[in-house]
Amino acid sequence: MPAPRPLLAANWKMNPLSAEAAAELARGVLAAARDHADRVEVALFPPFPWLLPVAQVLAGSGVGLGAQDCHWEPSGAFTGEVSAAMLSGWCGWVIVGHSERRIHLAEGDDVVARKAAAGLGAGLQVILCVGEREEEFLAGQTEAVIERQLRAGLDGLEPSQGARLVVAYEPVWAIGTGRNADPDHTDRTLEMIRRVLKAVLGRSGAEVRVLYGGSVNAGNVAAYVRLPSCDGCLVGGASLKATEFSRMITAVATSSATVAEGREGGE
Ligand code: PEP
Repeated sequence: MPAPRPLLAANWKMNPLSAEAAAELARGVLAAARDHADRVEVALFPPFPWLLPVAQVLAGSGVGLGAQDCHWEPSGAFTGEVSAAMLSGWCGWVIVGHSERRIHLAEGDDVVARKAAAGLGAGLQVILCVGEREEEFLAGQTEAVIERQLRAGLDGLEPSQGARLVVAYEPVWAIGTGRNADPDHTDRTLEMIRRVLKAVLGRSGAEVRVLYGGSVNAGNVAAYVRLPSCDGCLVGGASLKATEFSRMITAVATSSATVAEGREGGE
């Protein structure tokens, strides 16, 4: 079986400001994504109103498209919300539990778990974000916080859904700050996440992909995807510049080619 390709997921957050700019950004990363499609999986997560124009740009390209959030109910009296059921069919992915929603919109672990279950139930691939705050990191509580968020987020998931689940470790203090987490710290945390996934989901826990996110750019992305524990990166700020994100795709492709050659050379 071929090794899975590292995933680069681009979280555009509440950017850019127009449909034209969103389509332009998507067009700007297509060439690199196509050139390295055999080595890197790419998925773009625009804001809801730009999903359709970006879908039109990506049609037939193999680049994934996802939403940054979803509601847990399929439909009903939830003004302003968008359900996972509405996304399925033309969106392949959804992000749940991003720290900006946990912090600014008071989303708790229970809500995140319901959203994850809704996304998976609707047939989407779900990126479940977990991450400790700076004070928790400094107090040495990273593993305890991540294990709590993860166990809560997995509540109610079927083991058979593991293959469509991705967990993103995103330390809150590393997001948008330029302070990317040390790769050794990241490696230890991703290994711990893998142990919890296996404990909760059994054998299918091994099918869950695990990402790092937090101030990843073209200069540091290879240090993460080289880690055996890391299946790719969730990228915020650097994904808003087509040239920078294209350089990241190339860096990941080069790095995964080197790893593959190393493996073949050792056989
Ligand atoms: C994010 O918001 O998911 C993120 C990782 O942001 P940044 O890359 O800007 O730190």
